[in-house]
Amino acid sequence: MRKNIVAGNWKMNTTVPEGVELAKAVNEAVAQEQSLKCDVVVGVPFTHLTAVNAVLEGGKVGLAAENCANHKSGAYTGEVSAAMVASTGAQYVILGHSERREYYNETNEMLKEKVDLALENGLKVIFCCGESLEQRENGSFKEVISAEISESLFHLTAEQWASIVIAYEPIWAIGTGKTATSDQAQEVHAFIRELVATKYGEQLAQDTTILYGGSCKPSNAPELFAKPDIDGGLIGGASLKAADFMGIVTAF
Ligand code: PEP
Repeated sequence: MRKNIVAGNWKMNTTVPEGVELAKAVNEAVAQEQSLKCDVVVGVPFTHLTAVNAVLEGGKVGLAAENCANHKSGAYTGEVSAAMVASTGAQYVILGHSERREYYNETNEMLKEKVDLALENGLKVIFCCGESLEQRENGSFKEVISAEISESLFHLTAEQWASIVIAYEPIWAIGTGKTATSDQAQEVHAFIRELVATKYGEQLAQDTTILYGGSCKPSNAPELFAKPDIDGGLIGGASLKAADFMGIVTAF
């Protein structure tokens, strides 16, 4: 049975003390939740990982980095390796977010390298994919998503695939307030699951967690999460306020 997950992506927000406060608030709220129907993860800036891990340790909330380098170690000033991320106590890394693809020119090939290093270091990967508005409107969105997933992930073994969570994030819905309708999201989630089934078989496809991301909030999460192939969310803006984030966590 696949897991439901709600993961926050704080992006480049909060100082370390602010992040620690937010993590404490989420951790306490999750601890008090009697009937939690999903795993909860917070994705935080590199600088926050160790301090936030100290807050979360022993609790129910998982920890993710928002990126890692596509090199193992060495002369890459300013980069942070998968081994470094893992050494903070984080269990997950978010890779392939559209902001990284767009502003930092991350390609499917680079992401493949990052995925391999993340898995080698025992991290689970929340792998983002999704189309631009132009690609949605010209009808090429399924091809784009298929290339993103197959070129960065389909070299993995079935055993490695168990450490992959997919996040479908239509770029036109990220931070815009424009959510994909639950039917639009479900269509793509079912397409992704079918793609995974073709490569890894029906059982692994059924076991794969596929998250939706893009202006998800407490008011629209219940309808999105009710769809059969939507297994939770990757949450940007609404993960920066513990109450909003918890409104999504409890939406199942
Ligand atoms: C994201 O960037 O991963 C995201 C889903 O952002 P938002 O929820 O703010 O649209």
